[in-house]
Amino acid sequence: MNIALDGATVTAPHQATVDVVIVGSGPAGSAVADALSARGLSVLVLEDGGTYTGADIVPDAWTSMALTYRGAGAFMSRARQPIPVVQGRAVGGGSVINGAISWRLPQDVWQDWVDADPALADALPWEALEAATDRVIDRLGIAPTDPKVAGRNNLLLAAGAEAVGLEHRPISRNVRGCVGSGHCMQGCPNGAKQSMDRTLLADAVRQGASVWQRVKVTRVLHTSGRATGVEAVAGGGGQITVSARGGVVVTASAVQSPVLLWNSGLRHGPLGQHFQGHPGAGVLARFVDPVRCWEGATQGHEVTGLRRAGLKFEALGMDRGMLASRLPGLGRSLSAELDRMDRYTSWGIALKAKTHGRVAATRDGAGVVHYGLTPDDLRVLARGVAWAGRMAFAAGAVEVLPGVAGFDARVTDPARLDALEAAPPLDPRAWSSVVTHLFGTCRMSSDPARGVVRPDFRHHTTDRLWIADSSVFPTNTGVNPQTSILAMATLAGRAIGEALATTA
Ligand SMILES: Cc1cc2nc3c(=O)[nH]c(=O)nc-3n(C[C@H](O)[C@H](O)[C@H](O)COP(=O)(O)OP(=O)(O)OC[C@H]3O[C@@H](n4cnc5c(N)ncnc54)[C@H](O)[C@@H]3O)c2cc1C
Repeated sequence: MNIALDGATVTAPHQATVDVVIVGSGPAGSAVADALSARGLSVLVLEDGGTYTGADIVPDAWTSMALTYRGAGAFMSRARQPIPVVQGRAVGGGSVINGAISWRLPQDVWQDWVDADPALADALPWEALEAATDRVIDRLGIAPTDPKVAGRNNLLLAAGAEAVGLEHRPISRNVRGCVGSGHCMQGCPNGAKQSMDRTLLADAVRQGASVWQRVKVTRVLHTSGRATGVEAVAGGGGQITVSARGGVVVTASAVQSPVLLWNSGLRHGPLGQHFQGHPGAGVLARFVDPVRCWEGATQGHEVTGLRRAGLKFEALGMDRGMLASRLPGLGRSLSAELDRMDRYTSWGIALKAKTHGRVAATRDGAGVVHYGLTPDDLRVLARGVAWAGRMAFAAGAVEVLPGVAGFDARVTDPARLDALEAAPPLDPRAWSSVVTHLFGTCRMSSDPARGVVRPDFRHHTTDRLWIADSSVFPTNTGVNPQTSILAMATLAGRAIGEALATTA
């Protein structure tokens, strides 16, 4: 995909004028860019990160995270037990390094949104969301994981779920020609993952949009209640000013979007409040025969039977360096574990957490996320860990490593999982989790007191300013959000296009 400008080369002031400037090139920004460029508007996408494809992709997780993850993947929430808030930082945003798991927005989640704010039914009709999702599924080649590339880590989860009677299925993923190299989270070395730089953003560029990489937007410019452009700083140090005749679309993610608005003096509504996520915990289990969880589709099988209880399970293949860091022991005992690391499965538990956190702005634009898990959420997470362990034993594991501090490091008796579920430690410091699905900080609502944007993605008090990423989602979704973000942002792009056509 052609990059029109690399900010690393910009050392002097630089200016441009376009119809619409979009901040961020992740799934949300790419879908909006696709929709607006298809209408013939001049569109400029500004992206803080760089391009990572082909030879740039390194299979080692730690090196890859330093290159393609915000803050090298080490950005932590502030809480009694800090949680890593993990995001991609690249042309294509998180789509470059994510697990490619695809889910339609569940209708029950949409219904919850509409029940809370009936105006959303008109702005986001279910049929329109479904039609936008169908288009995404078609464009991104979303299909269930081919058993030929599933690998044993995935197949054992299927066997365990089947044995305990929980609903499960191969994960639908946005890949074409996946060979199961097991490196989704480092970026696909074979170009099989249908990330934005290969799909919607590339389509937008073909339709005339421009992408500038390594350009960090620092301020949305506005005058007399109307957004007029952005100021940015290039990787090479040059100041960039973009005037946007039609307006500004912010899609910098549920962490960076509220920070950018705050730093721009656009502080209307519950900005930064209602941060929600799906904290994920991991369970390892050791089998007698080799599993080699670093081979096969990174995330190829999921268990959906407890989704309505707020739990979802996914196989989570890991590269060897990362798996090694999860194994217990020191010295000889760790060395013995490393010798048999090919026997471990690695499965993740994603929680539809009820906790609301908040994002606060910092001058450097990074922001601070205040977010920790409450005892109610921890009880549900404990249930998830117990069920993951039960599935592992049912699939033939000889021991389960629940990863809960203060509880058995190794469980060999399944009854111990019942004990964990019945009386889990409720001190959050006992639990390790990671959050990669982020929502809610520029919430959508028809009530200006309850929302930052209106149901048509327009900012409540600033004209010609739209926000279209998952920061506008009224709640978390309980499922992997990329496809819902793409569908929602497609509707946002259409609404913006129509608004500009009527006011041109
Ligand atoms: C490791 C990992 C695995 C995941 N796996 C899955 C999965 O399998 N399935 C799924 O559905 N979801 C998954 N997700 C979540 C999914 O990737 C995100 O929900 C999605 O990428 C969010 O899209 P977005 O456009 O809102 O934001 P992002 O993808 O975060 O994109 C925002 C972009 O804006 C850029 N940006 C931020 N601030 C600025 C600024 N000031 N100026 C310019 N640019 C800026 C960022 O660099 C970034 O590239 C995963 C996430 C991670 C981190």
